[in-house]
Amino acid sequence: LEQPFLKALPVLFALMKQGYEAYFVGGSVRDHIMGRTIGDIDIATSARPEQVQALFEKVIPIGIEHGTVVVQYKGDSYEVTTYRVDGDYNDFRHPDEVTYVATIEEDLSRRDFTMNAMAMDFNGEIIDPYNGQDAIHNSIIETVGEAPVRFQEDPLRMMRALRFSSQLGFTISEMTLNAIIESAYLLEKIAVERIAIEFDKLVKGENIHSSFALLIESTLVYYLPVFKNIPSLTKVINKLPFQPLKGIEEAIAIFVLSKPEVVVSTFTTEWKCSNKVKKEAEQLVNIYMKRHFKPFKWIVYQLGEDHLDSYQRLLSIIDNEDVSLEVLKENFQDLPIHSKRELALSGNDLKSWFPNCKPGPWLKTYMNQIEEDVVLGNVQNDKEAIEMWVKKWKQHEES
Ligand code: ATP
Ligand code: MG
Repeated sequence: LEQPFLKALPVLFALMKQGYEAYFVGGSVRDHIMGRTIGDIDIATSARPEQVQALFEKVIPIGIEHGTVVVQYKGDSYEVTTYRVDGDYNDFRHPDEVTYVATIEEDLSRRDFTMNAMAMDFNGEIIDPYNGQDAIHNSIIETVGEAPVRFQEDPLRMMRALRFSSQLGFTISEMTLNAIIESAYLLEKIAVERIAIEFDKLVKGENIHSSFALLIESTLVYYLPVFKNIPSLTKVINKLPFQPLKGIEEAIAIFVLSKPEVVVSTFTTEWKCSNKVKKEAEQLVNIYMKRHFKPFKWIVYQLGEDHLDSYQRLLSIIDNEDVSLEVLKENFQDLPIHSKRELALSGNDLKSWFPNCKPGPWLKTYMNQIEEDVVLGNVQNDKEAIEMWVKKWKQHEES
């Protein structure tokens, strides 16, 4: 066993010591078999949530109504879920009820794809009733059980199939893909926040380009918010040479910049994105649209170090323009200042230089102009130099 599992072993052993069964399950077992970096470790157990709660010091009961508690142990969190199968999914959100079951095999049967339906014991022994290992060796995504039934139960699984294909580079099996085409319309029943989480993971994946093609081939794209009302937007994602993105905010910026009739808020409202995503997308769009009208240095400054890579991808994907990230970084490093905070004057300095002028909007206008002039190297970032420079303008303005 490798490190993240070793670290979690005491949690498994604590359960086993009380006579319960406990296994590692889901994504971590898949990633272990694939030799990928292990993400979150999930545990399945025969113990009931209250029994798990009683066993550990730090337990957060999020999801307890679905049989899940989060155990915190030595700085890591583990989702510990009681063996269960789902009831009906009449509201397409959560199963109506959760039924606890006796065996790990039954628990594995409710899981979405065969590659995700494996368990591993403390020894590294794999329990694999649905041949998930074969699916992994053949790079195939296939549902556990009948695909149409599984998508009817929870249509989000269709989006999950596509995001896994983006992350792992796997092919969706013919039967599973056909079932997605048949059931795609059910996606409209799913809470948009859940779709957005999968979409965000999809655009970060290595194989985003082929997964976007799959969004169209599977017809899922026609049931996604915004896309369903603007079919021509689909042409955008069909044409652009996508590469792994930072996240949904970058994807939104690309859609908006490629399609003048949509704005960021159309997306962020319909997809119920966080304010952070909205702000980031808007910032990228605004700066990108200015790039032909403002000096390159100003663009680089406005982006800030954290957005240089996004800008590089936008240029490459939207305008087929390849600029190296190194060059962008060098240009940023060479700027006289890297943020407003580094400016050698404050608003109060500015006021004190013109004691006869009432404070007003002119202060902000002046500060902005000074900032730009310092960034562009028109004036040194030095208080006296700036004072002379500003006083010269002001005279000019008044004469
Ligand atoms: P990642 O590495 O991206 O976290 P993951 O496989 O761990 O991938 P999660 O969304 O964290 O994916 O879910 C954990 C496990 O729970 C899955 O591996 C799968 O077994 C099961 N699962 C999650 N969502 C569903 C679903 N909608 N239907 C059935 N099983 C699911
Ligand atoms: Mg996970």
